[in-house]
Amino acid sequence: MRIELRSDTFTKPTPAMLEAMFHAQVGDDVFREDPSVNELEAGAAALFGKEAALYCPTGTMSNQVAIKVHTQPGDEVICEQQAHVYIYEGGGIAFNSGAQVKALPGNYGRITADQVAGAINPDDIHKAKTSLVCLENTSNRGGGSCYNWSEIQKIRTVCTTQNLALHLDGARLFNALVATGQSAIQYGEVFDSISVCLNKGLGCPVGSILVGSSDFVHKARRIRKVFGGGMRQAGFMAAAGIYALQHHITRLQEDHQHATQIAEALKKKDFTGSIMPVETNIIIFEVHGRFTAKELVEKLKQQNIHCMAISPTQVRMVTHLDVNSSMVQKLVTVISGL
Ligand SMILES: *Cc1c(COP(=O)(O)O)cnc(C)c1O
Repeated sequence: MRIELRSDTFTKPTPAMLEAMFHAQVGDDVFREDPSVNELEAGAAALFGKEAALYCPTGTMSNQVAIKVHTQPGDEVICEQQAHVYIYEGGGIAFNSGAQVKALPGNYGRITADQVAGAINPDDIHKAKTSLVCLENTSNRGGGSCYNWSEIQKIRTVCTTQNLALHLDGARLFNALVATGQSAIQYGEVFDSISVCLNKGLGCPVGSILVGSSDFVHKARRIRKVFGGGMRQAGFMAAAGIYALQHHITRLQEDHQHATQIAEALKKKDFTGSIMPVETNIIIFEVHGRFTAKELVEKLKQQNIHCMAISPTQVRMVTHLDVNSSMVQKLVTVISGL
């Protein structure tokens, strides 16, 4: 029994999802004639109370498309210093948008309204024009941490007052919604654009959805084409997305419970240093003493348990659709025996 905890991107479509894909109605989406893509986009827009949505091949593309729409070359984007848009998208903000980043040190990946307010450049010809704030919820490098809703509202107020756009990298937003009890509609009201990954814990093979106003999505659709992301019979993939939004959201709670169980087992071991607060499906912990992070990963690999060293002293485990309770039970037993 292989236990795959390196990432929630390893999920494979369930038989029921494959069935939905197999029966998808399709057409040419560049002509806007793919009924399944149209249905997914309409459904996602409605879910967030937004006017429109755009289906993108990856979360990286939907973030980069959004940043391109919200900025002009020479502008500055405010985000947290470990944000995916900044450290994991190949320098895309510079490459695609010709914009630069003001990266702020956060609390487990989260920044505050005061930090944002303090980071906005004055109207001075020496300074880059601050035009966009990007938040990430949950925060990947923050160990799956969730934003406090009131802080997001304060950041919205700062953005409105200062005339800045507010984008959410919500790759794992549904994990945050399930954990905190906020609704997609509330998020839709506050953010100008939101990108949500369908290919993480929601279990789709590929795909992301980008929501916003009709004007925003009209511009985003053009940029998606320029980036090479205009797909033809994408409905086979979109059908997986429709299925996931219907069936794979509430079950994320199980992944969170599994992550908590794993963290509890780790806490009892002398090789475990500090563990980031486990709020959703990600466990990031320090390894010291008897093992290095790499050695611990190797030890677990011998038992067909796969996790990842994300720094010389840190290991990450991610729970998801393809990690069931008996796998978690086995992992807990193996950890206890180490
Ligand atoms: C996975 C991820 C993305 C996008 O990833 P793709 O692999 O390009 O779909 C964006 N932001 C965060 C925080 C992520 O974890």
